Amino acid sequence: MFAGIESGGTKWVCMIANHPGDIRATTRFPTREPDSTISKAIEFIQSEVGDLSSLRGIGIGSFGPLDLNSASPTYGFLTTTPKPGWAHFDLITPLIQEFNLPIGFDTDVNAAALGEQRWGAGRECSDFIYLTVGTGIGGAAVVNHELVHGLIHPEMGHMRIPHDWDRDPFPGICPYHGDCLEGLATGPAINARWDQPGEDLVPEHPAWQLEAHYLALGIANLVTTLSPKRVILGGGVMDQVQLFPLIRAEVRTILGDYISAPQITTTNQDYILPPALGSQAGVLGAVALAIRAAEQQGNPGNQ
Ligand code: ZN
Repeated sequence: MFAGIESGGTKWVCMIANHPGDIRATTRFPTREPDSTISKAIEFIQSEVGDLSSLRGIGIGSFGPLDLNSASPTYGFLTTTPKPGWAHFDLITPLIQEFNLPIGFDTDVNAAALGEQRWGAGRECSDFIYLTVGTGIGGAAVVNHELVHGLIHPEMGHMRIPHDWDRDPFPGICPYHGDCLEGLATGPAINARWDQPGEDLVPEHPAWQLEAHYLALGIANLVTTLSPKRVILGGGVMDQVQLFPLIRAEVRTILGDYISAPQITTTNQDYILPPALGSQAGVLGAVALAIRAAEQQGNPGNQ
């Protein structure tokens, strides 16, 4: 069995599972101060697994930014998060001390992409993008079957996109950049621009056409940069399913006829699509991190 922990800025979700068809237990609780939050996850694993010798690995997919460099003395730490109390918190040492098992560690969105690659909409796809649009915007890239980490990890939510101030005088809410993609298109930006939560806006509200426009600008940048074969869009904002056809049409318009692939020129529904694992993509992704960590420990040459 494997344990997965989805560490979010507002809630944690923990799961004991082997795969999506064999889920033994799940829990979720609000994110409080770091020590008590991680203790709650440890207690859940201990009580639900019972015989700890059957547990083979633990995965944690976390909000960031994170130190993912395994050679760094602060590997496994959150770094500069503005969330009070969480900056420079060591997420993995308490788990190693308690369980002494392989630990898979990555960003929440990289974990979700890994889960979709193993069991969901990214299966048998060598190159794809996973974007999550919720309280923030995060992005993962799988290139030639591998998650891209690079210097730190991708921060696709903070890419710059054209901002038409006449159409949308809202300045954006990113504390670092103002009107980056996240600043204009994240859930709290929708809330602030229209002075009500997105869930309360009817599907015909102009908010959604503008939202689709911004997300499509970001996706067009990713399509021209990484040439993904699929783009998976998850997160709470994407529960507004009317966004999908709007985004497909906007991407096609923005790219013109320049990218000559039928997936784009025909706005194929299999090109820009929701995660197959739905709202469990994040925590199942953490389980996938645990499985990969256990596999790599058994096969160090495959790392
Ligand atoms: Zn930003």
